[in-house]
Amino acid sequence: MALIVQKYGGTSVGTVERIQAVAEKIKRFVDDGNQIVVVVSAMSGETNRLIGMAKQIHDEPTPREMDVLVSTGEQVTIALLSMALHKLGLGARSYTGSQVSITTDSSFMKARIEHIDDKSMRADLSQGRVVVVAGFQGVDPHGNITTLGRGGSDTTAVALAAALNADECQIYTDVDGVYTTDPRVVDSARRLDRITFEEMLEMASQGSKVLQIRSVEFAGKYNVPLRVLHSFQEGPGTLITVDEEVDMEKPVISGIAFTRDEAKLTLRGVPDTPGIAYKILGPIGDANIEIDMIVQNIGADGATDFTFTVHRNDMVRAKKILEQVAAELDAREVLADDKIAKVALVGVGMRSHAGVASRMFQTLAAEGVNIEMISTSEIKVSVVIAEKYLELAVRALHSAFELDKPSV
Ligand code: ADP
Ligand code: ASP
Ligand code: MG
Repeated sequence: MALIVQKYGGTSVGTVERIQAVAEKIKRFVDDGNQIVVVVSAMSGETNRLIGMAKQIHDEPTPREMDVLVSTGEQVTIALLSMALHKLGLGARSYTGSQVSITTDSSFMKARIEHIDDKSMRADLSQGRVVVVAGFQGVDPHGNITTLGRGGSDTTAVALAAALNADECQIYTDVDGVYTTDPRVVDSARRLDRITFEEMLEMASQGSKVLQIRSVEFAGKYNVPLRVLHSFQEGPGTLITVDEEVDMEKPVISGIAFTRDEAKLTLRGVPDTPGIAYKILGPIGDANIEIDMIVQNIGADGATDFTFTVHRNDMVRAKKILEQVAAELDAREVLADDKIAKVALVGVGMRSHAGVASRMFQTLAAEGVNIEMISTSEIKVSVVIAEKYLELAVRALHSAFELDKPSV
């Protein structure tokens, strides 16, 4: 008998029929003698619909009220799934985040899980019931509803698996595993049988939304066996593993991640003096805007151009702040560009191979794609390019690094 935590994403519970199909799938696991805790997302599109309504009422709704609002999506699916399980003759009980309870800090819309009480879940499991938990939400120490950031149901599932010391955490979604790159963009993308936590973390942080970054962090930290699978197709999926296989054939690159979520800001012609980076980025940090890549160039006249990227949603706010800074520093101008994309090659194999970056640059040059920014780490090379070249660049790199699946 195994204790399995299963998470079903938005499209997998997107209609009443799919919720019923998920219930049938769960029943097969229960009939095989497993104990099941299920985490569900809101029905697909629901979280966006709720956010859309909020924006119609207020440009900047308070984060606390946003969490009260967006957490309702998951409350619908836990109840419907539990009813579908009852219909099949199974015992099942639904729980919101606060009922479980999943305690978080008070950072609304991006809360971190601090504690999970496993008492009620264990009591239900021992009674033979399926436990159905709302993903993405928790409760802070003051009783406020919190949410864990977009895609946060993955993190709920992994955290529950860690708290219950589950045998496996299974993330069921609309693709049959983790691919070399988003299979919706590159037809020749290949499913990976396994990928290391370290690589998956880098893929997620560079934009692959198949798993939320924090879920991977959590799984790595607590050693939770984690697998990504298709909700309605049989198959082995992708196992996220600790060990780097000793495999001489291992490719240099495991995958390519990309994102359209960033925007680039440039402050032109600022004096090249100590403290300048702090003067520019300090106010951005004070406004709680996260910075990703940074580039600073010193021109012949001793003035410097300072460029960095932020989330696209923060661009307008960041630009306003920079305009004030520019006035104070007597800078030439502020430029903002949200028509950019970031593409990253990821792979632990890179550690033992030189020349990955230069091959990347050569490939992009051959396609006539200009590189605007570059950043590297031990297992990643990422570049910022114009958004219109994104798909071309990802496809070219996918072939150049021999990630394409063999053609049949
Ligand atoms: P869910 O609603 O089940 O959480 P998501 O939309 O969050 O599903 O994540 C699944 C999607 O992630 C896929 O439909 C796919 O388009 C996208 N994706 C991006 N990169 C990858 C990748 N490397 N491998 C698999 N899927 C990826
Ligand atoms: N419903 C939330 C979202 O759309 C959480 C999730 O699906 O993981 O971001
Ligand atoms: Mg998701």
